[in-house]
Amino acid sequence: MILFKKSDDITLHLKRMQTDGHTIGWVPTMGAIHKGHISLLNQARKENNLTVCSIFVNPTQFNVALDFANYPVTIEKDILMLEENETDILFLPSVKEIYPQGTEQLETFPLGYLETIFEGVFRPGHFQGVCQVMSRLSRIIGADHLYMGEKDYQQCMVIKKLLEIIQSPVRLHLCPTLREPDGLAMSSRNMRLTEGERKNAVGIHRTLMEMKSSIRPGSLEEWLLRAKKTLSSFDFKVDYIAIADASTLMPITEWDGIQKTVALAAAFQHEVRLIDNMRMN
Ligand code: AMP
Repeated sequence: MILFKKSDDITLHLKRMQTDGHTIGWVPTMGAIHKGHISLLNQARKENNLTVCSIFVNPTQFNVALDFANYPVTIEKDILMLEENETDILFLPSVKEIYPQGTEQLETFPLGYLETIFEGVFRPGHFQGVCQVMSRLSRIIGADHLYMGEKDYQQCMVIKKLLEIIQSPVRLHLCPTLREPDGLAMSSRNMRLTEGERKNAVGIHRTLMEMKSSIRPGSLEEWLLRAKKTLSSFDFKVDYIAIADASTLMPITEWDGIQKTVALAAAFQHEVRLIDNMRMN
């Protein structure tokens, strides 16, 4: 694996490889690499001759300073996992490298209602931060294919929109969520859970499964209230649990039995905020 820290160096190297006929599959991450990230890299390797992983804990997407400060950093272990996985290239830039002019006056993107719902309500400015880093990284890397996880469902929608806005030629691939044997979605944040919190954390998956098996056409309000109660019974403090159209992400409260829907949840086990989602039909 080749490790790049400088934008100009990786841009030049990847341009040369593309001129030589290689296609580049890119997986952006914030590190603390786990099997979920590896599944994205495996998909990228199947469909490209070069796989690039970027690791950058982006300060502009954290609306709570403590969350940024507590974000797990395990870079030595990450490098070992990526090498074992035969990732070709790792991009590990500094904050100065990504934001040479600082983070005060960055571009904003017209995301519309997408940033006013769910994560957008509870993490104001988060998606602007995601777009700032993704537009910068995508220019530096210039990948042919971009792989992202449906675990962050709303983020996938936001990136789809961003790629249209910046007219990026990269092709976005959405990959399924990898889960622990008990159903908990793999996440870098899971390593911050205590033993007791880890046991309760499975409640988010159980709640989504129960929602999926009990959804019926008609009003969904009672059903959503029940879901919130189930989640709370696992000691979760709930930010939201909701259902939306699977392609537009417009929240719905009445279901016709046909519309494709996804349920989304975000909740805290004490200090640790977890998110998950599941398609309902
Ligand atoms: P992160 O490092 O958390 O920003 O995640 C980097 C990428 O990995 C994002 O596209 C995530 O959606 C994806 N990802 C995170 N967890 C999982 C998972 N359990 N299964 C599949 N993809 C994931």
